[in-house]
Amino acid sequence: MFLEVVENNKAMFIRFLYFILILFIVSCSTGKNKSLIMENENKSREINRSKEEWKSVLTDHQYYVMIEKGTERPYTGEYWDVFKEGVYKCAACGEPLFDSETKFDAHCGWPSFYDAMDSTKIKTDVDYKVGYKRVEIMCARCGAHLGHVFPDGPKPTGTRYCVNSASIILEEKK
Ligand SMILES: [Zn+2]
Repeated sequence: MFLEVVENNKAMFIRFLYFILILFIVSCSTGKNKSLIMENENKSREINRSKEEWKSVLTDHQYYVMIEKGTERPYTGEYWDVFKEGVYKCAACGEPLFDSETKFDAHCGWPSFYDAMDSTKIKTDVDYKVGYKRVEIMCARCGAHLGHVFPDGPKPTGTRYCVNSASIILEEKK
């Protein structure tokens, strides 16, 4: 009798182990599928245009800043001293990038934001164009150059996204 109970419990325990194993395998594979789906969704939204194509849809100044990674002169752009409510979108593809709530006056002559609306919509790269290391920021969707990001912003992030006016378009809140 006693042995029978032990045997039964053993069988139940093994069945329980199988159950946990199957649960583990199922949760792993659905997690993987989910991230694959998200990756594909992001990929399908990506815009890959040739330089010629960009030339035909952007102004010369936008092309110089966004495609040739130029920098507009400080205090000359459209938005450095604009503090209207709204969303700043990528001037090349329309992706919403910065909220006016995070815009601040950095006294540098370029529109500055202490945060991005969604950090996955901004991609970064390191450049040494001016002789020292800077972190370039680009629109993740279309690759257009936006400006640079520095670790000297105000609270709560301590980050300063320094953006060319030519790279963004303000959609004012109605
Ligand atoms: Zn874009």
